[in-house]
Order: sequence, then C-alpha cells, then structure tokens
Amino acid sequence: MTELNHLCEFKNAKLEKQFKDYQWPYLQERLRFIYLITATVYLLAGFGDYYDLGPGLKFTLILSARAFAGLVGIAAIGLLYFNRKASPMHSMALTTYMSIVMITEILELVMKAPLAGTLNITATSFIVFAYYLFSPPSLIAPLIGGLGGSVLYLCAGVFMTQTPFSSMITTILCFCLANISGIYFYFHMETSRRREFSAIAKLKALVETDELTLALSRRKIEEMGDFLMKSAKRFHTPLTALMVDIDHFKQVNDRFGHPAGDRVLVELVHRCKRRLREVDGLGRVGGEEFLIFLPQCNLSQALIAAERLRKTICDTPFQTENEKMQVTISIGAAELNDHHQELSCLVRDADLQLYQAKEKGRNRVYHAAA
Ligand code: GH3
Ligand code: MG
Ligand code: MG
Repeated sequence: MTELNHLCEFKNAKLEKQFKDYQWPYLQERLRFIYLITATVYLLAGFGDYYDLGPGLKFTLILSARAFAGLVGIAAIGLLYFNRKASPMHSMALTTYMSIVMITEILELVMKAPLAGTLNITATSFIVFAYYLFSPPSLIAPLIGGLGGSVLYLCAGVFMTQTPFSSMITTILCFCLANISGIYFYFHMETSRRREFSAIAKLKALVETDELTLALSRRKIEEMGDFLMKSAKRFHTPLTALMVDIDHFKQVNDRFGHPAGDRVLVELVHRCKRRLREVDGLGRVGGEEFLIFLPQCNLSQALIAAERLRKTICDTPFQTENEKMQVTISIGAAELNDHHQELSCLVRDADLQLYQAKEKGRNRVYHAAA
C-alpha cells in the first residue's frame, strides 16, 4: 500500500492522526482485555509455582513478582480509565507491564532452573508472541518487552542455568519464531486496519460529495442541515436556508452542449464556495439546484450573502471553448422559525421563495418578507 511508510503508518500525518483517533476506542477495549486476562492468568500460575517449589523463599519471591506484575496491569487499566485520550503514556504503561512480566519469567526460569522444562519455555515464547498479536498502540512495546525480554531470557538460560546446548538451540529458535512471526503479524494487522480505514474514508467521501461539482451530496447537506437546525433551536441562534437554481440552464446545454453545461456547474460551485464562509454548507440537491445553509445568519444578513452569490455569477461571464456565456441564478431565502418543525419545512419555504424569484423574472433573490 503506497500510502503507508515502513512502520505501516500513513505517510500523511493528518490521516494517521484520524486513523489513531478512529482506532482508539477499539484499542482501549483491547488493552483492557490484555491487562485483565494476562494479569489474572499470571497470578493463577502461582499455583504451579507452589506445586513445584513448595512454601519457601523462592516461592515467595516469584509470587511477589507475579503480584507486582498484576498490580502494574491493574494500574494500567486505571490509567486507561483516568486518561481516556490516546497518548504515548498508554504505550509506556504497556511496555512497562510487558517488561515486568518478562523479568518475572526470567526470575521463574532461574529459581526453577532444574525444573524449568520445555513447558516453561513454550509458555514464555507464547507470551512474547501474544504481545504482537494484540496489536499494541505502537511497535515499541513488543520490541522492548518481547524482543528485549527474549534476549534477556535466553541470556539467563545460557548463563544462569545448566541447560544443555541442544535444548538451548531449540529454545533460541523457538523465541526467534515467536518474535519474527509476531512482527510479521503486527505489520499485517496494521496494514489491514489502515486499508480498511482508507476504504471506509473513500466510500464516505463518495457518499458525502457530489462527484461532478465537489459540492456536498444531497444526503450530506440534509444531514448537515438537520444538525444546524437542532443546534440553532437549542441555542436560539438564527439559521437561513438558500435554494439556488440556474436560470434557463436547459438553454445553456442546448446551445453550448452538455459538457459545457457541466463546466458551468463546476465553476458555479467554485465561485460560490469562495464567497461563502467555511461553516456554511453548500450541497447539490438536483441537476442545477443547490441548497445552502448559513448558520448564525438571520434573513437580512443572509440576503447580503445571497446577493453576493447572485452577483458573482451574473457579473462575470462563464468561458466556453470559443465564447463567453452569461449565466444567472435565482435564489429563494427562508429563515428558520418556530413553525419549522422539520428540516423539510424550512427547505420547502426556501423552495417556494425560489419559485417566486423565477415568477418575478429570474436573476434575483426572493424571500418571505418581500
Ligand atoms: P429555469 O430557469 O426555470 O430553472 O429553467 P431551466 O432550464 O434551468 O430548468 P429545467 O429544470 O427545465 O432544466 C434544468 C436542466 O438542467 C435540464 C437538464 O438538462 C440540466 N441538467 C441537469 N443536470 C445536469 C448535469 O449534471 N449536467 C448538465 N450539463 N446539465 C444538467
Ligand atoms: Mg433552472
Ligand atoms: Mg431546476
């Protein structure tokens, strides 16, 4: 996937941030699960230690280490609860937890040296693999906890136990396999997640944007209008809707051809966007009909904006391949009032005003009070 860098992150920093924000609730859930399950299993493994070592100093030491790892796991869950935002602190907490678990594993290996058989090694290499498998927030945590822990574990095996050479080779290979397949799986999962995110974002853009003019789609502008209407009613702020329609557009198509008509639509949206505020919404709701929402604008303020739009279209002719053409628009304006229970009521009012603007001769802005 060419959008990703060698760490399997989006090259585009803004997109990567969006992905991280989108992923965060799922990651939070995953982290909570990892801490809870592994800390519990880790404490339960103390029964095995008791069976192997019986009561005594060695058992107390291992159990204390297990309890400490468990406490760090619980503290990490607490951190997730108190700091709900995605932050490097969670990566650090996971790295610390993983490292403590690995140190405890090393302690167990040394304490149980003559008893630590293949089962112990298999369990530890599985723990290492699991670090990668759970797709942590960054690769740092499993690299330090898993890879670093594996190296220390193997060193402890070589220097502090009398493990035979042949079994040491098998152990090293086992840990290599856990780390290599873990890293492979980590990258595979990170790529898949970003591919899925990217596909959803593209699909969303397709649904929300009009393909030809890049104005908002009908669905999106209505969704936006709905939100703006609720917000205006809740905070008692004004909201005005403008319905815009190109005058005699059929003639433009008939005279200059359909592709020229398309270019007019594109240019018109471009000009209007330049004249509107960033918070305003402009959507294409029909062939040559556009719906605009002006939040925080009462009717008189909206009329100034509407007049500006009308002038930006009729004052400068549109360029076709060979000649210039004069294009005009008619605009119907309606301000939100208490009678508008649904968005469709407000839009219908703006549409009625547009109809009036056409009746009165086109190339004008019409509104209820007129
Ligand atoms: P009025 O002033 O009453 O609005 O007249 P009009 O000709 O603009 O109105 P009418 O609704 O009869 O015609 C709209 C025309 O818009 C018809 C159609 O060919 C054209 N049209 C609709 N969608 C597109 C499009 O995507 N591209 C092009 N080039 N033309 C379109
Ligand atoms: Mg028209
Ligand atoms: Mg029309």
